[in-house]
Amino acid sequence: MGMVKIIRNAKVYQPEYAGVKDILILGDKIAAVGENLKADFGGALKAEEINGEGMAAVPGFIDGHEHILGGGGEGGFHTRTPEAGLKDLTMNGITTVVGCIGTDGVGRDMTALLAKAHGLENEGVTTYTYTGAYQVPVPTLTGSLMKDIMMLDKVIGVGEVAISDHRSSQPSFEEFARIAADARVAGMLSGKAGIVNVHLGDSPRKLDLILKVVRDTEIPASQFLPTHVNRNAALFDECLEFAKDGGTIDFTGNEDIDYWETICDEVRVCKGIRRLLDMGISSDRFTISSDGQGSMPVFNTKGEYQGIGIGKASCLLKEVRECVQKENIPLETAVKGITSNPAAILKLNGKGHIKPGFDADICLLTEEGLKLDTVIARGRIMVEKGKQTVFGTFERS
Ligand code: ZN
Repeated sequence: MGMVKIIRNAKVYQPEYAGVKDILILGDKIAAVGENLKADFGGALKAEEINGEGMAAVPGFIDGHEHILGGGGEGGFHTRTPEAGLKDLTMNGITTVVGCIGTDGVGRDMTALLAKAHGLENEGVTTYTYTGAYQVPVPTLTGSLMKDIMMLDKVIGVGEVAISDHRSSQPSFEEFARIAADARVAGMLSGKAGIVNVHLGDSPRKLDLILKVVRDTEIPASQFLPTHVNRNAALFDECLEFAKDGGTIDFTGNEDIDYWETICDEVRVCKGIRRLLDMGISSDRFTISSDGQGSMPVFNTKGEYQGIGIGKASCLLKEVRECVQKENIPLETAVKGITSNPAAILKLNGKGHIKPGFDADICLLTEEGLKLDTVIARGRIMVEKGKQTVFGTFERS
C-alpha cells in the first residue's frame, strides 16, 4: 500500500463545503486539498489514485461515547455485552472513538478499557477514553481522577457520570461539583478538554445538577457534555435551553430510529437538530454519539419487555442521513455533529477536518443515498467500495 494517495474529484466537506477537489494524503496526514493536484514525486514514490467522482468526502467519524469494552449486565452477568471489534467501527465510518464505562464500573474497569483502546489503536483507528463509570466516587486507574486525566495519554475527561437516574450513585451537589472542578483543572494542566461526560437518566431532575454547578460555581457550561439528551421530550426541552446558554449537547443515535421514536417516545435526532437550528442555536453546539455496544432493552408495540439488544455504531451515519433527507439540513451542517464538533469540544487535535496538516481520516459517501463507500483512517484504506479491507486481529475470515 502506497504512502502517497490522491482522492480525485470528490465533493469535499471539510466539513464546510469546499467544492469538487482533490485530496493529497502523505503517510497518515492530509497534505493538500485543491484542484488538479500533481503527484509526481519522481523516484520510487508513486501516488495511489482513488476516484472520488460522485462521492462526498467528509472527515472520518468521531464517536464520542462508545462502550468499546462492552457494557450492559443490568439483567445479570449473562447480559454483559460484547466488546467492539474493528469492523464495528470502520464499517460504520468511525475512525476515532472515545471509549467509556457505564453502569457496571466493577466488572469493567479502567485497566481493561485502556487495554481495549490500545488494541483498537494498534488495529488502525484512533482511540481515547474517559476515566470513570456511572459511579461516584469515580473509579479510576491511578486512584486520582486528576492523575488519570493528566498522566494517561488516552484519557481526555471523566464519564459517563450518571445523574437523574435510578442507577446513578446519587451524587450530592458537592461531589458532582468536585468532579467537574478536578476534571477542569486536570484538563488545563495537561492541555486536554477535561470534559465531564454526563449520563442523563429519565428522571424529572433532568439537568439539575449541571445547571446548579454552572449557576453556583465558576465552572462554565462548556466543561460538560451531557449525553442521551434526546431520551424524552421534557429532558430535551431543558437541554435545548442549556445549548442556548452555551452548552454543547450530545444526542444518542439509534439503529432503529422509528422504533425509538414511536415505542420509546424518544426525540428523533433529526427533528431535535432541526429544532436546535430553528431556535438560532449555533450548529457548533451539538454532537451525536452511538452509545455503541451498550445494552438496550427491547419492547414490543404494547410496551412489554422483550429482551435485550446491543447498541450499534451504524446509527451515526443513519442519523446524519436522516437530517439531510428528512429535515433538509445541509450535509455540511449535519455531519459536524460527528466530525468537527466532537473534535472541538473534546479537543482532539488533528481530528474532524479535511484540511492540510490534519490526520488523514476520511469517509467517501455516495452522493446518491449517502452510503458509506470508502473509509481511510490515518492514511490507511480500511474500507473500500463498502467492503472491509483491514481486519481486526480475530476478524479475518
Ligand atoms: Zn449512558
